Formats: sequence, structure tokens, C-alpha cells
Amino acid sequence: MAFSISEKEDTIVALATPQGLGAIAVIRLSGKDAIKLCNEVFSGKDLEKQASHTIHFGTIRDENKIIDEVLVSLFIAPKSFTKENVVEISTHGSSYIINQVIKLLIRKGARPAKPGEFTQRAFLNGQFDLAQAEAVADLIHSDSEASHQAALHQMRGGFSHEIKALRDQLIHFASMIELELDFVEEDVEFASRSDLQALVEKLLKVVEQLISSFDLGNVIKNGVPTVIAGKPNAGKSTLLNALLNEEKAIVSDIAGTTRDFIEDEINIGGVIFRFIDTAGLRETTDTIEKIGVTRTQEKMKTASLILYLFDLSDTDMVEINRDINKLENLGVPFVKVANKIDKSNRQFINELKEKHPDTIFISAGQKEHLDDLKDKILELVNLDKFKTGNTVVTNIRHYDSLVKTRESLLDVLGGIDNEITNDFLAMDIRRSLHFLGEITGEITTDDLLANIFSKFCIGK
Ligand code: GDP
Repeated sequence: MAFSISEKEDTIVALATPQGLGAIAVIRLSGKDAIKLCNEVFSGKDLEKQASHTIHFGTIRDENKIIDEVLVSLFIAPKSFTKENVVEISTHGSSYIINQVIKLLIRKGARPAKPGEFTQRAFLNGQFDLAQAEAVADLIHSDSEASHQAALHQMRGGFSHEIKALRDQLIHFASMIELELDFVEEDVEFASRSDLQALVEKLLKVVEQLISSFDLGNVIKNGVPTVIAGKPNAGKSTLLNALLNEEKAIVSDIAGTTRDFIEDEINIGGVIFRFIDTAGLRETTDTIEKIGVTRTQEKMKTASLILYLFDLSDTDMVEINRDINKLENLGVPFVKVANKIDKSNRQFINELKEKHPDTIFISAGQKEHLDDLKDKILELVNLDKFKTGNTVVTNIRHYDSLVKTRESLLDVLGGIDNEITNDFLAMDIRRSLHFLGEITGEITTDDLLANIFSKFCIGK
């Protein structure tokens, strides 16, 4: 989906709000002729004579037929999202009206926008770099405090800033070394090898940090993969439902909110937890019993967190110790959760408290002490690193480029050690620069852009 030059000059149109019924819908036009085109179908003030960032009431007409009463917002180039002329028409939110208005604008000369084309234009016109453009999509899709924070930080350029600083320092060295190549006979050294080595080592540290933040970033974006493990009848489905219902109750208390509930995703303290294989869980598969079995073990290992749930009234200490031992060998963080405190005896609880003081005691059935459990869960996933405002890599494309950057930086270091010739050293540095540039879009290809923006929706 490469864009030709003429396509880039078209005026594009798309619905910017979701399809379906709504109080209002916003239809967005961008391009040289956006205001002129809208003016042809708009009755009210002459839009071409109005100032930027103004809103105008009027009607959209197809010849003499009124389609709707609307508000038109004007953004005159370059003071707009795409840096082109942009018009946003707010209509009533009926799909009939939306279709009529869009069809009319297309008849007048606009072209339907491709997925992500508004954001792509913003990128091509220098509104922001590629990592920031990608963050726009992440921001729209973010549905928890943590993913929202990460996307916002990236959109506002926090991540790009770090990458650019690294690149600038390397560019300096690359040009020094390339300069030396012009003076081979003189045998001069513009770039001290020990300074270069120190810089590359510093860069490697930053790159490593960013790479290692991806685990956290992935969790922030996609949710913490979590498994509730326990014998049949331990109360696994009851617990999951209790957590889900609590969230639904909280959300539906906020007037006017509607949220599609994904059956196995729960927001705890601003972090999404994704419960793995909850369908199987409802069939009460005996996960713990099967930990010895390789396939089950593999599945459990894909979890970042395990809630080990046992029925206080139906499990003895030998069994609990055995299960905990298995879980410790698995190496995935887990919470010991004792269920059904409402029907267990004091003595056993006291014994457990002594042997396993970190146990959380709940009643899933009566929804008791679920907050203790949530606190413990949040403590285990430890998002402190994220909360200090550090940059977190959430995008797999960025992660890949960073891994390649690390490889080529290591080549540079190896090259310095082995005293390879300047031309090879310069090549390795250029390669690092290339991979860093891919992240922010200093280095792009049509294919790469097409691939990124085609994942956006139409209208974005
Ligand atoms: P699963 O097989 O692990 O998914 O277990 P279920 O969630 O289906 O629960 C098994 C049984 O235990 C059901 O009859 C639940 O109502 C009951 N149960 C779950 N939690 C509690 C609890 O906290 N107290 C009591 N008394 N019963 C519970």
C-alpha cells in the first residue's frame, strides 16, 4: 500500500468516530481542498473566509436537499493534526446521515481515506516521528492506566527523545571516522578509539535497559498473563467471577460508561490481568495435579503470575506443601490463596499462617478479603520501574530494532578491540544508526510505512 505523490495531494475523507449510532459523529477531511470542498456543500458562513480554529453552525445540503444541521470546525494548514487544511464536520450520529455526507463529499472530489492515512500524513509532514505516530494507535487502544501512561509518554516524545540522543552521539563519531578515511595517508585520528569505546559502552547500557523494559511493556500493553491453578472445586471459577463482577460493578457505577467486557480480562489497580485458558478452567481441569506433565507445565510457564488456590476445608498440609514445592520449581511468581475461610477451622488457619505466612485468606464465594488478594497481586507484578516515569518499550517493532542495534553495537566494540580498519568500523556504526533510525522513522521504506499504518483503522 505505497502512496504515490498524487495520492498524497488528494483531499481525503473518513468518519473519525466509531461506526454505529451515536449522539454525534465526526467526519474528517484533510488536504489542500478540504475547506473548499466542504464549503461547496455547506450553507452558512463562507468557510473559506473564516479564521483557523473556529466553529460554524450551518447545514449540509445536496443541491436543495438538507442532509443535516452540523457544526464545522476549521483547522488551516499548517496548524492541524496532519499539517494540511483539516475540516471536522460534526453531524448527528445516524449511519444514514454519515453515509450521505461522505458520499456527497466524494462526489465533490474527496477520496475515501485509507487506514491510518491521517496519521501517516501527520508523520510525513513532520508533525511527529514514527514512534510517536505508533503511540497514537496505542493510546486509542489503551484501556488501563498503565497502558495509557506508556502510550502517552511515547506519543509526547519521551522514547523518541532517548533514541535521538543516542543516534546524534553516534553520528558524530561516524562522521569523524569517515573523515579519517579521507586522510588515510596522513594517518590522523579525529575520533579517539577509547572515547568511541566509552560511548558505545554507554549506548549499549541504555539499549540493554530499553530491551529489558519490553517484558514490562508487553505486560502493560497486553495484560499480565495469569493462571488460577487449583484442584477441582477449589473455587477457581467462583474467584474469577467474583473479580470480574467487582470490576463490572465499579465500572457500571460510573454513569454513562459502557465498556465491552472481555470475559477473561480484569483491571486491578490500573493494570490489566489476562486470565489464561479460563474456558478450560471452568471445566475444572486439575492444573496442579498435572504440573508434572510437560504440556501443562509449558502452559503454566507462559503465565507471568499464578494464583495457587486451595480449598481450606478440603486440603491438608502435606498436599499444600507438595503443590508449593512444584510451583517453586516452575519459577513463575505465585500467590498462595486459601479459599473458603467461611467453612474452615481456626486451628488449620493458624497452622497455615505459621508455615506459610504469605498466604492470603479469602472467601471467593462470599467475596471476602478480595482486596488483600489484589494488593498482593500488584505487589508481585512490581510495576515500580514503570511508575518512576522510565521509558518502557511496548512495541515489538521497536524491540526488534533495539535487539539489532545491540548486535551491531557489539560488533563496533569487537571491531575496536580487534583494531579493524576504519572503513569496517564505519560500516558497523552506520548499521547501528540504521536500526536506531528505523524506530523513529529517520530510516523508512514504503513497505514499512504501509505495514505500520495499515494496522490503524480508517479515520485515524
Ligand atoms: P473450580 O472447580 O475450582 O472452578 O470451583 P468452583 O468455583 O466451581 O467452586 C466449587 C464449589 O465451591 C462451588 O459450589 C462454589 O459455590 C463453592 N465455593 C467457592 N468459593 C467458596 C467459598 O469461599 N466458600 C464456600 N463455602 N464455598 C465456595
